[in-house]
Amino acid sequence: MSLANKLAEERRARLAAERLLELKQSELQAANRKLGKHALALTKKIGQSEAEVATVRTENERVKSDLTVANAKIEIAERRLWHSIQTIQDGFAFFDADNLMIGANTAYLSVFEGLEEVGPGISYMRMLQILTDEGIVNCERQSPADWRAQMADRWHAPNPQPTVIRLWNDQYIKLIDQRGHGGDVVSLALNITASVRYEKDLKSAREKAEAANRAKSAFLANMSHEIRTPMNGVVGMAELLTDTDLDEEQRLYANTIKNSGEALLVIINDVLDYSKIEADKLVLHPEPFDLERCIHEVVMLLQPTARDKGLALIVDYDLFLPTRFIGDPGRVRQVLTNIVGNAVKFTRKGHVLIRVTGIAAKDGLDCDIHISVEDTGIGIPPDKIDHIFGEFNQVEDERNRQFEGTGLGLAISQRLVKMMKGSVWVESEDGKGSCFGFKVVMPMTDEAIPDTPKMPEGLRHAIVVDDLEINRAILAKQLDLLDVRVTACESGHEAIRQIDDSVDLVITDHNMPGMDGYELATLLREGGNDVPIVMLSSNATHQQTDPARQYLHAVLQKPIPRRDLFAKLAELDGQQGPAGDAGKPSSAHKVDAVVSHKAETPAEPKASSAQPPTAQTGPDSPAKRLMRILAAEDNKTNQLVFRKMIKDLEVELKFANNGLEAVQAYVDFAPDLIFMDISMPKMDGKEATGEIRKIEAGSGSHVPIVALTAHAMDGDEQGILDAGLDFYLTKPLRKTAIHARIAEHCPADAEDPARGLSDK
Ligand code: ADP
Repeated sequence: MSLANKLAEERRARLAAERLLELKQSELQAANRKLGKHALALTKKIGQSEAEVATVRTENERVKSDLTVANAKIEIAERRLWHSIQTIQDGFAFFDADNLMIGANTAYLSVFEGLEEVGPGISYMRMLQILTDEGIVNCERQSPADWRAQMADRWHAPNPQPTVIRLWNDQYIKLIDQRGHGGDVVSLALNITASVRYEKDLKSAREKAEAANRAKSAFLANMSHEIRTPMNGVVGMAELLTDTDLDEEQRLYANTIKNSGEALLVIINDVLDYSKIEADKLVLHPEPFDLERCIHEVVMLLQPTARDKGLALIVDYDLFLPTRFIGDPGRVRQVLTNIVGNAVKFTRKGHVLIRVTGIAAKDGLDCDIHISVEDTGIGIPPDKIDHIFGEFNQVEDERNRQFEGTGLGLAISQRLVKMMKGSVWVESEDGKGSCFGFKVVMPMTDEAIPDTPKMPEGLRHAIVVDDLEINRAILAKQLDLLDVRVTACESGHEAIRQIDDSVDLVITDHNMPGMDGYELATLLREGGNDVPIVMLSSNATHQQTDPARQYLHAVLQKPIPRRDLFAKLAELDGQQGPAGDAGKPSSAHKVDAVVSHKAETPAEPKASSAQPPTAQTGPDSPAKRLMRILAAEDNKTNQLVFRKMIKDLEVELKFANNGLEAVQAYVDFAPDLIFMDISMPKMDGKEATGEIRKIEAGSGSHVPIVALTAHAMDGDEQGILDAGLDFYLTKPLRKTAIHARIAEHCPADAEDPARGLSDK
């Protein structure tokens, strides 16, 4: 190669090297610039981070100081909490999930005074052991092991029930333990010694008060019982006296004695009943009975008073409600007599309406019976409504003082209804009237569902005449249910206007303003109308002599049980015109045979066992022996009363002065019927009956024995029947009740004791 070539080559190489150097230099410069930028950015970032670190540091310091403050606060709160826990007088402790004590206040630990082992860290089970071992706790009738086991079981329960333990020093501690989250237990030990003592004092005071109250009730019951016996003599003798020849003045005196005696007996009965209820001695005697009849009896008893005051006494017995139930008829009658009696007593004019409705329970066995008694009387001020059910409570103001009463009736009625699992209520408007109601649940008897009464075919349209709208409404409702169309008229004149050929029957009230029932009948007949007329009268036994009586098909005593009214209407079948009574079988409600439903003495438990009177002998029958009656009675006055009460009967009477004599007389005299006083010297009536029943045993004979009691006490009714007596009569004795018993038990081979009575 030439030098020039070499030089050119070298120069080319140098140039290339120089270019490369330039390139590298510019690359370096670019890298330097980048580095510079990067360094700048980095410096900025470092500056930022430094600022941030400074902020975090200050923050940290703030948090640290906050934490210190918070810790200090927590410490203070904890100290305060402990301080508070320490100051409470009751014990307080916590335990962890392993049943180890975390802490407890002094009160809690004080029970274990002197036992250093008891403190934080001790287990609950160990504490129980210490409590029994050291005799700190009084285990009462349990062994220490049993007591610990019971306490341990309780402790382990998820929700331990509070319990009371008694300490050796008669302090009572109530333990309330609450298991919290994670198994910790907070335990409270409350010292309840003071309240336990207070409760004990209270209990003994209450027991004393109750005992005193029972003693008072027993005293009252005994007193009333004792008073009844002599009252028997007073009332009985007065009754006998009124049967003798007396001039008017003497009769007035005798009646006054009798009426006052009876009034006194009503009060005594109230007091006695109340005392018996108070002393839990009154028992109910359920038996099948007819509720409608029972209501009717009460109404008949109160009818004369209502009539004298001009009050209408109305019964609305739900047409489809059964009448026969199982209950204590005597007590139902007592409640009704009180409530209806009050309604009559506190009403001057208007009406008293007894409404009976009922709903059979789903099981078809029981019936929910509602009886309400509405009156248009003086009413009760709202603030006195609750007061009147209290014993001896009356609405005490001027107007009330004119009414007699003990203020016990409603209290007794309410208790009786409660005993029948029912309730009593009242609504009243002062000056306008009251409505007392009660509800009882009574089982229905098998024969409870009555047949719907059937009206005669030809009876499709009846005219009902009554000046009282409520009476018209009730009759219309009942007849309507039996598909008889009713035209209701408020007076005789309206009836005359309304009557036409479509009318098959006229049911008229007796006393009405303007035209009474007799006058209406007369006008109808004189006008040539021979529609059958039935008259309802609140005093059916009077005015029998009215010439218009002949126009009436029947005169019925008002209010009349529905069944009897429908039975009477059923008789009209096929009958036209004023049939009068001729040729018709007499009915219980015809005037000629109005049955007196006047209630007798209180219920007789076995009334249903009464048999019909035995066959009566005609005048031509061969002579028969006299019925033999034994009366065991120690009181001479009562013997006299008894003798006089049956003086008109043809019987052979023998007295026994005590139970021993009665047993002997049973053997010697072979009585057909025995009247047995219960309390007698030497041998009482129950024992004597027992002896007689022993003698009878095996012979197949059974003499009926009627207990005579002043008033059954202490559930005596059952005791009397259990002792072998068949019936009981309460004193004062009533002639009719005694005569009825005698008539029922007269044997077939004896003369009818009442033979001579009808001639007198
Ligand atoms: P008594 O009738 O013997 O006073 P009760 O306990 O039967 O006692 O009645 C208490 C009181 O309730 C009565 O005295 C009377 O003030 C009031 N009372 C009861 N029934 C009625 C009524 N139907 N209308 C107005 N007040 C009545």
